[in-house]
Formats: sequence, structure tokens, C-alpha cells
Amino acid sequence: SKQMPIAAPHTWGKYTPDKIFTVVSNATQAKAAYGRDQVINGAPGTFLDETETIFCLPTVETVYRSIPMNEVVAYSPLEGAPDFLEAAIQHVFRDFRPAAHIKAVATPGGTGALHNIVANYTSVGDAVLSSEWCWGPYKSIAEDALRRFETFSLFAGDKFNLAEMEEKMAALLATQERLVVVLNTPSHNPTGYSMTNEEWKAVLESSKKLAVPGRFIILAIDVAYLDYTEDQQASRSFFPLLAELPENVLPIICFSMSKSFTLYGQRVGAMIGVSRSEHIADEFFKTNQITCRASWSSINRGASKVLAAIYANPELIRKSDEERAAALAIIRSRAALFSSEAKTAGLEFLPYRSGFFLTIPCQKPEEVCQVLNKANIFLVPLAKGIRISVCAIPTSKMSGLAVKIKQAIDQV
Ligand code: PLP
Repeated sequence: SKQMPIAAPHTWGKYTPDKIFTVVSNATQAKAAYGRDQVINGAPGTFLDETETIFCLPTVETVYRSIPMNEVVAYSPLEGAPDFLEAAIQHVFRDFRPAAHIKAVATPGGTGALHNIVANYTSVGDAVLSSEWCWGPYKSIAEDALRRFETFSLFAGDKFNLAEMEEKMAALLATQERLVVVLNTPSHNPTGYSMTNEEWKAVLESSKKLAVPGRFIILAIDVAYLDYTEDQQASRSFFPLLAELPENVLPIICFSMSKSFTLYGQRVGAMIGVSRSEHIADEFFKTNQITCRASWSSINRGASKVLAAIYANPELIRKSDEERAAALAIIRSRAALFSSEAKTAGLEFLPYRSGFFLTIPCQKPEEVCQVLNKANIFLVPLAKGIRISVCAIPTSKMSGLAVKIKQAIDQV
């Protein structure tokens, strides 16, 4: 019998099971049935070491265990503790702090930052813009807040599709006053693409051009994988460009400790606003602080103190960088192995530069993944391709994978 939903009408039909969590759970069941060694779980968004164990930076663990219990259990200020916020700003920018007014508000991961941006910089019914290849929750976060979600295709060849992005921005700004554009770079999820500084300059030029009086552009810069590029100085070198924007263009950097400090479930991050206007920076701080209060109150204080403690001691910064570099080297060698086998097998993949994932574009991704499931290979089907977690598949299981994917695609 069809029962009247009890939930309010705007929620009807919005439930869809989370794809990634579903694939991970199928892989876990297969491991129980056939044995760990027989199964490839290429779905998780966490770094697993070569024994497929979730990895925590040793310095992060030591520091976390040293945080006094009164710091762990206490409430955090709504906007985050001052030493955490300063550490977050230092970590994100390092040698590339933009010469502008900079304010930070602590959030539960990058997700919380995106939630606040949608809540405070768009109106109900507005569209949020991102690239077509993107992290699925962008759409959920927008739609859950009764906003729409629109996309431009990410690539023109193997470059960022500036022309289509600008075209979509212009079209949306013809009918709405504010536009949030979500850009995930470097090491984009799911493709592994990183925008170049030239591409950044062009995005900022487009924003300046389109931000006519009465129009506001908010660039949500999702840097969840900032610390997993080959050259982390180079990947931060676009930040100073953000100081050159007019007052009606507001870049907000979404920082996350999930990947950068391997504290995924501890839910700590920050939103960092950069403006030439002190007034807009203050507005950013106050507006977002109250949305924290109204949404989750405050963040995990203990985990936020880990970052504060690391940044209070240059030796701990150095050690955690070194440990992360070792994890990164493993990810890079897995990706290099996959790429070279894919090239040999004639398997196409999107332009990967760095990071946790790479993507195979293909027709009928669901069907291809089902064929692979029969061989105990579990990957995430996307709308137009398949995502592979190089962060999670050990090198021993990576070998031969590209050929199997190619065969499954040819079979479907
Ligand atoms: N952005 C991207 C592209 C991600 O892949 C993730 C995590 O998977 C996040 C943001 C946010 O993660 P968190 O909320 O844990 O910081």
C-alpha cells in the first residue's frame, strides 16, 4: 500500500543510497566470503597502506594522544579556537598567503564549509555551479538546501574547459544575483586533475569580467587534496592571485584535515575567506559563525587542537610532512603502475596529475562495474565513467587491473 510520507513535501523523492558506501559494503561482504586477497576494493576515499589498513600519520596519532582530556571534551568556540584557526590559515597558504584580509571559521570538514557557503551565499532556488565530473555530495548539499545544481564539462581536450565555465557563469548570472562556483583543485576528485596557474588566472579574469555591479561571485575552492600533489609549493602558488579580486568576488577556501592529516572521521576543517575589503571579511566571519551555531554548534575540539599543537612546533610540522610524503610516494607509484598498464592496454583515462582517484570514461559504467564485481573487483560507477581509488588499492593488486577493466568495457 502506498503510504503518505510523513516527511515534509520538499523532501519527497530525495533519498538515494550513497554509491560509494554501497560499493564499499559489497566489497567487504565479498572479502568475508572469498578472502581478503581475492578482492579488490577500489572505492574508499581514505589512504590505505600496502596491507590495506587505514593509515594515520604517526605524528598526528602521537600528538592526538597527548592532548589533555579537558581539551578533548570541552566545547570549542563556535568559530573554532584561535590557535586552530591560525594554524589552518598557515597550513593552507604556507609561503603563499594572499595580501588581503583573511578570516577563518572552523567547520566539520570541507563538507561543513560547503554547507555554510551554500547556506549563506545563495538564495533558495539559485543554482550552484561546478564541473560535471565532481564529488557527488556537491549536488546533495545544494539540493538539500533547496538550491539547484548545474555543471559545465570539466575538460576541453586535456585542459580545463574555461570557455564553457564562463558561458555557464554568464547564463546563470543573467537570472541570479549571486553565483557560487565550486572548484576542486589540486588533485580533483574523481579525475586527479589540477588546474594550472594560467588556468587560475583565466578563471579569475572571467570572474572579474562577470562580476558587474549588483552581481556577486563566490569561488568555493575545495582543497581537500592540497597536500597530495607532487610539488606542494607549486600547488599553493596560485593563492596570492586571490588578493587581486574586486570586492564582489569572494574566494572561500574549503580546508579539510580529513586527507591532509588523515583524520577523516574526526570532522575538522575550516572555511577561509579572502577579501580586499575588511568589511566583507568581517561579514564572512559573523555570517558563517552563526550558521555553525545553527547547524552543528561547534567542531571537534580535541582534533582541532592537534593542528594547533603541530603548528606550534616546527619539528612536528616537518615530521608530519615527511610522513605524508611517504604515503604520497605509495599513491604515486600505484598511479604510475596503473597509468602505464592502461596505456599499454589501450584503456583511456582522464588527465590525472595527482591525488586519491583516477577516472576511466566509458559507456554503461554500471554494467561494466557489475561485470567487474563478478571478478571480485569493486569500483565506483559514475554517470559517465568509473572511479578508481588509487589511495586504497595496494600495488600488488593494482598490477593487472587496467587490463581487466579494458576487457570488461569491451565485453559490455
Ligand atoms: N571535497 C572532496 C572533493 C572530497 O573528496 C571530500 C572527501 O571525500 C571532501 C571535500 C570533504 O571531506 P571532509 O568533509 O571529510 O573534509
